Amino acid sequence: ENLVKYFPIRAGVFKRVVAWIKAVDGVSFEINEGETVGLVGESGCGKTTIGMVLLRLYEPTSGRIIIDNEDTTYFFMPALRARSYIKKTYVDKFNAMLKELGSKDAVINALDGVDRRYAEMFFNEAKSSVGKFCSLLLSDMDEKRKQFRKNVQIVFQDPYSSLNPRLRIKSIVGEGPAVHKMVKGEKELINKVRSVLEDVGISGDYMYRFPHEFSGGQRQRIGIARALALSPKLVIADEAVSALDVSIRSQIINLMKDLQHEHKLTYLFISHDLSVIKYVSDRIIVMYLGKIVETAAKKDLFDNPSHPYTRALMSAIPIPNPNIKKERIILTGDVPSPVNPPSGCRFHTRCYMAQEICSKEEPQLREIRPGHWVACHFAK
Ligand code: SF4
Repeated sequence: ENLVKYFPIRAGVFKRVVAWIKAVDGVSFEINEGETVGLVGESGCGKTTIGMVLLRLYEPTSGRIIIDNEDTTYFFMPALRARSYIKKTYVDKFNAMLKELGSKDAVINALDGVDRRYAEMFFNEAKSSVGKFCSLLLSDMDEKRKQFRKNVQIVFQDPYSSLNPRLRIKSIVGEGPAVHKMVKGEKELINKVRSVLEDVGISGDYMYRFPHEFSGGQRQRIGIARALALSPKLVIADEAVSALDVSIRSQIINLMKDLQHEHKLTYLFISHDLSVIKYVSDRIIVMYLGKIVETAAKKDLFDNPSHPYTRALMSAIPIPNPNIKKERIILTGDVPSPVNPPSGCRFHTRCYMAQEICSKEEPQLREIRPGHWVACHFAK
C-alpha cells in the first residue's frame, strides 16, 4: 500500500546524498490467495525492486506491506524506528479519529482489516497506552521474522548464480526446513528433500550432487524446490524463466503452474516478457518508471489494453503466423532517468497520444471498468 523505495546516490569525500533514485514511487496492489499476479514492464521500471521490498531484502522507504491481515512493515526495522512507525501509522491515526468520532467503538467500527484489529488491540488490550501497544506489537519479533522468512520465498532469475556451488543439493534444499525446524533429525530431512526434489521432477537420488552437475533447467527446478521446501504462502518469481532456453521455459512455467495447484501457492510473477505473463497470470500489473500505469484481469487487459504504454508493449508480442500483419507501435526515445522523472504523466516524453495536460498533471489510477484501472487522462 503506497509502497515507495528510493535509493540514495552518494558522492564526495563524505559520501553525502546528492540525489535519489525513485525506483518505486507510490505503488498499491493486492495479491489474493491462490492467485498469480503478473508484474510487467521494461528494465528499470521498478518491478524487481518491488519483489525485493516484498521479500524485505530491501526495506521500503515508506508504505505498508500487509500479509494475512498483519502489517509486516515494521518487522525488520530497528526497534526505535519500528516504534516511531507504529505511533505514526496507528496511534496518531486512532487518536485523531477518536477526537473526530467521539468514542473508541466508533473508531473501531469505522475501520476494517489490519487497522481495525490494531485499533481493538490499542484501545482494549493496551488501554490506549502507546508504550504498551508498541510492546504488544513488537513482542515475539524473532518468531514473527522467522515466520515471514518462511512464508515469502523467491525463485531468482539466474539458476547459475543463485545456487551456492560449494553446497550439495541436499544442503541447498534442506537448509530452510532444518532452520525452521520443520523436520526432526537427519532421516526426516532426507525424506523431505527427496520429496520436494521429486515434486519438481528431479530424482531424489541426485541430492548429494553439486549444482554444476545439472543443466540450467534442472538448476531452476532445484531453485523452485528450495522455495517449495518451506511451504511458503507467497512465491516471488523474479524473471524465473528469462535466463533459460526457450525450449526449457515452457517446462518450467508448466511445472510452476502444476505446483501452484498441488500446493495452493500464490505467485507474484515478475517478467519483462508479456507473452510469458499472459500465459501464467490471473491478473496483470503494468509498470512504467516506478508507477503502476494499468492493472486488470488478464483477459480484460489483453482484450482492452487502455494505456498507450500497455498497447505498445502488446504490439511487440510476435504472432507465430507470417500471414498475419500486425501493426507495431514503436516508442521513440529512452526511458527517462528515475532520478528526475518527467513532470505530470511520466510516460509523456514517449507517448504517441500526449497532449498539453499530460506534462502538467499526473494522471491517477482510475477504474474504467470493474477491476480495470488505468493511469491515463484519456483512458475510456
Ligand atoms: Fe499518454 Fe497523456 Fe495518457 Fe500519459 S496521460 S499515457 S502522456 S495520453
